[in-house]
Amino acid sequence: MQTLLVTNDDGIDSPALPALVHSLTTLEDVEVFVVAPEHEWSAGGHAITIRHPVYADALDDDRFGVGAWSVSGSPADCVKLAVYSLLPRRPDMVVSGINLGYNLATDVLYSGTVAAAIESVLAGVPALAISSGRVDGTSGDYAFPAQVAATMTEIATHIPQNPWLLNINVPDRPRSELAGIEFTELGPCPYEDKVLVGEDHAGRRCYHLAVDPSREVAEEGTDLAAVRAGKISITPLEVLRITQSHLLKWLSPFEESLHRRLLEEGES
Ligand code: MN
Repeated sequence: MQTLLVTNDDGIDSPALPALVHSLTTLEDVEVFVVAPEHEWSAGGHAITIRHPVYADALDDDRFGVGAWSVSGSPADCVKLAVYSLLPRRPDMVVSGINLGYNLATDVLYSGTVAAAIESVLAGVPALAISSGRVDGTSGDYAFPAQVAATMTEIATHIPQNPWLLNINVPDRPRSELAGIEFTELGPCPYEDKVLVGEDHAGRRCYHLAVDPSREVAEEGTDLAAVRAGKISITPLEVLRITQSHLLKWLSPFEESLHRRLLEEGES
């Protein structure tokens, strides 16, 4: 039997969560658990709680029909609590989502949805992060992305290399209008960053982070290009090997001179 952990960054009350849980429970021979934050953590990145206690309340309603906890901490906290304490056994896979809104390109660096999946990989458990282009709606609106997640969960159990991370984005259009499915690379940053300056109600200067999503060019083969073309995008992400090897080679001749300048010369 497979043990699946479901989490997200939109919180335990996200309309997409029941759809995902329902879809995963239709798979054969699985047991599903939900451990999700009590409030929204979108763009909360890979935060963890270390200075305060974290609380986990078992849900007293049966809205998911499976064991479920609401957690006072971040998505990454949820994965840690689930893997190391709450679940009766170690999960075989974590499914994070369905996020209300895409997580494309550099979004994955800010996304709590992807951070939960990364946390899972750090714990040695493979993970799937799934996001929809739809930013609001009812549970029924997320039935198709939920089906995508369940189908990929089934296929991904056969991936030979462990642990892996798949980042999936599903366009917000009817199934009949989808243009296909593409395995992609992460695209470059799709936004032009802007900071808007204003005043708060007390007259104090304040700032709003904003973006201009106008960068039209999305390279072929990237997640951005795929969803813009109306395709489901699936990107395998590397988590641990982020060393820039080329720069490491370029830097290595400086070891000796740095040693001389910092550790030998100029002591007084
Ligand atoms: Mn979110």
